[in-house]
Amino acid sequence: MGRLDGKVALISGGARGQGATEAKLFATEGAKVVIGDLLDEEGQKVEAEIRQSGGEVAYIHLDVTSEADWMAAVEIAVGRFGKLDILVNNAGITGIQASGGPVSIENATVEGWDRVLAVNAKGVFLGTKHAIPEMRKAGGGSIINISSVSGLVGDVRPSSGAYPASKGAVRLLTKATAIQYSNEWIRCNSVHPGLIETPMTDGTFPTPQDREDRIAITPIKRIGTPEDIAYGVLYLASDESSYVTGIELVIDGGFTAE
Ligand code: NAD
Repeated sequence: MGRLDGKVALISGGARGQGATEAKLFATEGAKVVIGDLLDEEGQKVEAEIRQSGGEVAYIHLDVTSEADWMAAVEIAVGRFGKLDILVNNAGITGIQASGGPVSIENATVEGWDRVLAVNAKGVFLGTKHAIPEMRKAGGGSIINISSVSGLVGDVRPSSGAYPASKGAVRLLTKATAIQYSNEWIRCNSVHPGLIETPMTDGTFPTPQDREDRIAITPIKRIGTPEDIAYGVLYLASDESSYVTGIELVIDGGFTAE
C-alpha cells in the first residue's frame, strides 16, 4: 500500500531538481500527479518516466506567475483525475538567476527584485488561491510550500535580498493559510531546505574550496540531495501528518541549528 494511495497532487516546478524527485516519489507512493513547469521538454521526460513505471501523470505548461496558467493547471488536475488533494508550491528562482549573477542590495535592479518576488511569492499565493476551492470540495487537502533556510536566517553570501525576502514571505503566507483553512481540513506547511544539489545550485560555488567551506559549516558534513527534501514533503502530503499544520520543516543538515 502506498503512502499517497488515492490522492491527486499538483507540483509546480516539477520538470527537474527537487520537484521532479517529488513527482516520482509521489507516483511511487500511489498518487496521481500533475507536473507544471516552464521547461516543457524536461517536464515531458519526467512525465514519460513516471508513466513507464506505471504511474498516472500529466505534464502541463505552467508559469506560476500567471493566474490563467494556475486556473488551467487546477482544471486539468480535476478534469483528468477527479479532484485535488495535494499542492506542492515548489517552483522557484534565485536572485542570481534573475540578475544573471550575484549582486548586493545596493546594486540590485527593480526588475530582478520583481521577478524573484513574482515567481517565489506571488506564484505560491496564486497556486494556493486556486487550489483551495478544489481541496474544499475534496473534503480537505495538504499544501506544502517550499521556502528555504533563507526564509529563516540571512544569506551567508551577499545577495540582492530578493530571495530571502521572497522565502520569508512564503513562510508567513504558509502560517496565514494554515490558520485560515484548518477548520476545513486544509493543512499548509513550509519546508526549508538547506543547500541541495540541483540544477539551481550548479555553479553556486565559484571554486571547489567555496564548496568545501560550505560543507565545513554544515553539521552533517555534506550537501543535501533532492531525496532528503522529497521524503519530508511526502510526510507533509500524506495523512501521517494529519495533526501538522503551520509548521516549518527545516531539512538543512543542521545548518541553522548552530
Ligand atoms: P531547480 O532550478 O532545479 O528547479 C526549479 C524548477 O522551477 C525548475 O524546473 C524551473 O523551470 C521551475 N520554475 C522556475 N520558474 C518558474 C515559473 N515561473 N513557473 C513554473 N516553473 C518555474 O531548483 P530546485 O533546487 O529543485 O528548487 C526547488 C525549490 O527549492 C525552489 O523553490 C527553491 O527556491 C527551493 N530551494 C532550493 C535550494 C537548493 O539549494 N537547491 C535550497 C533551498 C530552497
